[in-house]
Amino acid sequence: MDRRQFLGLTATGMMACSLPREGNQASTFTLQKKLPMTQSYDLIVCGGGAAGVAAALAAGRAGLKVLLAEGQGQLGGMATSGLVSHWLGGRTTDCLHWAVGGIFRTMSHEAHRRGFALIPEDDPDGRLSPHGWGRGMLTAGIPFDPYHMAAYLDELCAENGVETLFYTQAVEPVVHGDRITHLILYNKSGLQAVPVNAVVDATGDADIAARSGCDFEKGREGDGGVAAATLQFHASNVDRDKLGAFIHNYNARRFRDKIASLRKRGEWTFPYDIFIATQIDKQDVFMINTSRLVGIDGTDAKSVTEGVIKGRQETIELLRLMRKHFPGFENARIKAVAPLLGVRESRRIKGRYRLSVEDLNRQNVFADTIGYSAYGWDLPDPEHPSCNPGHGKRSEVIAIPYRIMIPAPVGNLICPGRAASVERPVLGPLRVMAPCMAMGEAAGTATLQVIGEGKRFDQVDTALLRQRLKSNGAIVEWPV
Ligand SMILES: Cc1cc2nc3c(=O)[nH]c(=O)nc-3n(C[C@H](O)[C@H](O)[C@H](O)COP(=O)(O)OP(=O)(O)OC[C@H]3O[C@@H](n4cnc5c(N)ncnc54)[C@H](O)[C@@H]3O)c2cc1C
Repeated sequence: MDRRQFLGLTATGMMACSLPREGNQASTFTLQKKLPMTQSYDLIVCGGGAAGVAAALAAGRAGLKVLLAEGQGQLGGMATSGLVSHWLGGRTTDCLHWAVGGIFRTMSHEAHRRGFALIPEDDPDGRLSPHGWGRGMLTAGIPFDPYHMAAYLDELCAENGVETLFYTQAVEPVVHGDRITHLILYNKSGLQAVPVNAVVDATGDADIAARSGCDFEKGREGDGGVAAATLQFHASNVDRDKLGAFIHNYNARRFRDKIASLRKRGEWTFPYDIFIATQIDKQDVFMINTSRLVGIDGTDAKSVTEGVIKGRQETIELLRLMRKHFPGFENARIKAVAPLLGVRESRRIKGRYRLSVEDLNRQNVFADTIGYSAYGWDLPDPEHPSCNPGHGKRSEVIAIPYRIMIPAPVGNLICPGRAASVERPVLGPLRVMAPCMAMGEAAGTATLQVIGEGKRFDQVDTALLRQRLKSNGAIVEWPV
């Protein structure tokens, strides 16, 4: 039976719904329940990560009535709950030009002004940057403190009239014809039905698009293999200068030789051969992006739980090895372990356009370009997590067309961020957070036309959208 037939509105304004169970179980359970119906919103943004926050802010500042529903207890998504505290892809590798403007650039400057983010410059003497121990793409990132960032995002939402609900899952869309009419949310108050005119699916996993019956693909074509997940942690009390001297003297950016010798001695038993430590805003605090949890399905609750448990165990063992063997980490301590598992790859919608490898090779630009990425092709191989098949491939900037955010067939749904419609290798440059924010800002701004003129997202006048984005400081033409 079509899932959509399970859901219907009663005349009393309460929701009568019966939900099939998710998953592969052979049997199903039918739930019939009247739900309280809340006030209505112009827009519900599902997921408050890079794309969702930008979408909510763009729609809120334009005067729309916006609800932002976030599963965790803070905004920022991977940047805060995932402890990936380093926005990449928003500046050219020489650190001289912004490739993503608008909300991303404004937030970067303000976070820097308040003293909890850095805007690093390229070192003219060629010294390695502690923000990734390379030059170029990583140096051009914006490292920040996640706790200050979360508080800043709360403030921004309040200023722009965005209502936020934490610990709230967007559970199920109610679809009539080609429109989502209500979203079923779940939080401490129980299940509730929220009437809505437009929806941004910024869950990163296309949860809402998938549950509305929109087409999607998952992972590698053929077998669905996805890049490994990571549970990030932050280490404090690190001796940056000692670490830097070791990396410089032994060309040990990823510690591969050190790991090989530890493996020979039977001390390194993890199924990956890299160690990545990136300084965030304070000199002694490093973000450790190392565990590679192979075969984790970010859309399967059991698999995600397995990943988190394994990630936590590896964190403890890795810290022990770091303290014993890695120069600079002798006195390191765990500052925080991410509450949210880092999923690099899951569903991608089949959008109105699928950004292709050929587009990138030809450096195509589009009539509906809404932003850019200045990041490389970084997507590890599903089975060999230390290997990145696209390593070294990059162009100065990559144009992002609006249409890759538009799923089919639902007309009032848009999907910015990691789940946008791209060929798998293209996820590398697009999944990083600055381009996700560019997509989010464009999705939120497009909602103005959807609400104001009763259009579907695929009917949005993209020339007008680009003009609005530009007047708000976004970069929609290159060179600027
Ligand atoms: C280990 C790792 C390291 C990375 N390193 C970097 C890096 O250094 N720099 C960089 O720029 N990018 C990095 N990335 C990529 C980047 O972090 C993500 O691809 C990016 O955050 C995607 O943005 P998003 O807004 O689509 O999703 P997310 O940032 O993942 O946000 C999605 C949000 O939606 C919420 N959510 C999910 N489902 C629901 C639901 N049903 N209801 C309500 N809320 C929901 C989640 O809690 C989350 O807050 C890394 C990714 C990983 C996994």
